[in-house]
Amino acid sequence: MQNLFNDKDPDEIFDVLVIGGGITGCGIALDAQSRGMKTILVEMQDFASGTSSRSTKLIHGGLRYLKQLEFKIVAETGSERAIVYQNGLHVTSAQPMLLPIIQGGSLSKFSTNLALWVYDFLAGVKPAERRKMLSVSKTLEKEPLLRKDNLLGGAFYYEYRTDDARLTIEILKKAIELGAVAKNYTKVTSLIWKDRKVKRVAGVNVTHVLTGETSRIIAKYIVNAAGPWVDTIDTLNDAAHPAKIITTKGVHLVVDFKKLPLQQSVYFDVNDGRMMFAIPREGKTYIGTTDTFYEGDILHPAITEEDITYLLNAVNQVFPESQLQRHDIESGWAGVRPLIQQAGKKGASEISRKDEIFQYDTGLITIAGGKLTGYRKMAERVVNLIAKRFKDTEKKTFEPCKTAHLPVSGAVTGGLPAFEKFVQTETAKMVKNGWQENDAVLLLRKYGSNATTIFELAKTWKPETNMPQWLFGELVYALQFELVKKPGDFFTRRTGDTYFHIDKVKQYKNAVIDYMAEHFGWNEGLKNQYKTEFEEELNSILP
Ligand code: FAD
Repeated sequence: MQNLFNDKDPDEIFDVLVIGGGITGCGIALDAQSRGMKTILVEMQDFASGTSSRSTKLIHGGLRYLKQLEFKIVAETGSERAIVYQNGLHVTSAQPMLLPIIQGGSLSKFSTNLALWVYDFLAGVKPAERRKMLSVSKTLEKEPLLRKDNLLGGAFYYEYRTDDARLTIEILKKAIELGAVAKNYTKVTSLIWKDRKVKRVAGVNVTHVLTGETSRIIAKYIVNAAGPWVDTIDTLNDAAHPAKIITTKGVHLVVDFKKLPLQQSVYFDVNDGRMMFAIPREGKTYIGTTDTFYEGDILHPAITEEDITYLLNAVNQVFPESQLQRHDIESGWAGVRPLIQQAGKKGASEISRKDEIFQYDTGLITIAGGKLTGYRKMAERVVNLIAKRFKDTEKKTFEPCKTAHLPVSGAVTGGLPAFEKFVQTETAKMVKNGWQENDAVLLLRKYGSNATTIFELAKTWKPETNMPQWLFGELVYALQFELVKKPGDFFTRRTGDTYFHIDKVKQYKNAVIDYMAEHFGWNEGLKNQYKTEFEEELNSILP
């Protein structure tokens, strides 16, 4: 067997092995490593390329859960959003949200006010961000594009917006900074058993998807955090296990901001009793989501014409002046929600978003369900369990969970004033060095304190790279510090440009692929293969 890990001893024994590099797995890796457990994480695709780059990109308390009387989820995710925000101001920002109240809508003025009051209370919302109930005219002042004939008023409150894939990678980078090992494109193919008689899991066999090399990893505790694939991993553990997961698909579409120039984010009623978001971002507006049962290909969930019709109809009813057309859609994404099976729930949107830990006699620990927002608490629960097992079996103790006060990679600590000051000071420095103010600000807001490394790396830029200096800096940084292996890793998950700046991707993809080919030493055949693969990826975004 070849040693896939040139940088590690093949017989090294890890304390914790995490399967899955979405937000759940990366959160667990950070929690375990920060408590002093020797941790490794393996991901079969790129980090965050499962559900964790395909969400609505909100860190939120989940107002909708109040409708389902899920008070515990609201309280936990509500208080968690403040922690996620504090630990990474460059990846999470406060997002004013308007909820129009309409005739025949799912929420009346009274129930919205009550729900938001409970939300403020359960989520411990800070005074400046608590709900405000609005008259019709005040609602229209906030968002003039709203349909007027059925409007009864509105509610104004705060959610938090993030970039899900960047949040995931910043969490993972922090774990790596603390000593964790993380490998993308490394697929778990089978489990290794300690003892043939007593079935105890001792490690995993992995295949490096890009090279075909195989290796094994030995660890004391193994966590299955494979999101929509948790049942596949559990089948390796116990072929007869009952399925835990049910999957639903959610689609988002992106249009140019000029086509739907919202003054702010809106959370609105759809005819079928569901609710949907329209969120302005980076010169675009994105809308979503759908929620339909899904049994198709989990690796490549696709947007269908039916999804598009549903979303456009919903938006055009609420913002009638915009009349979005099919050809206005620039990009979008489809994601698969890994939800815990619940007997008796008929509609996709009725199924709880709660998380659950499953423990097997073999020692395997599986975590399923949950939300982006609750990733830290989910990780804490899993690692508490591992810490207890260490204590019970080896009398070994680890430090308690410290992630509530552990900034992610790139975080500027000291709250919003410190972050704003940092952006100002560093921008001024870069402008003196000849940078455009806009370019510097964008990088500083996106990468936080790591932007200074990007500025340093960008010094080696030459016009012959056929890309602007800021993009070159981002690329070199992504290759050196963010484990990028393929063009899509960079454009879709590290920069988010495939979703929000598709024109830029089309303009610079060849230059970026040329640079990557040189960096990795790809031969012409391999370069063309990755180029074709990425072009197919772009072509398959819309049906
Ligand atoms: P994933 O991100 O899917 O990660 C699992 C990983 O395991 C995958 O990357 C996969 O490749 C890997 N894997 C699988 N098998 C193997 C193997 N054999 N070997 C190695 N690796 C393997 N939550 C919020 O808080 N806010 C929102 O606004 C929000 N909106 C959402 C909107 C939609 C449409 C959807 C679908 C979800 C939304 N969520 C939201 C929920 C949130 O996105 C998910 O709960 C979260 O991303 C799940 O992360 P995960 O790590 O569990 O799964």
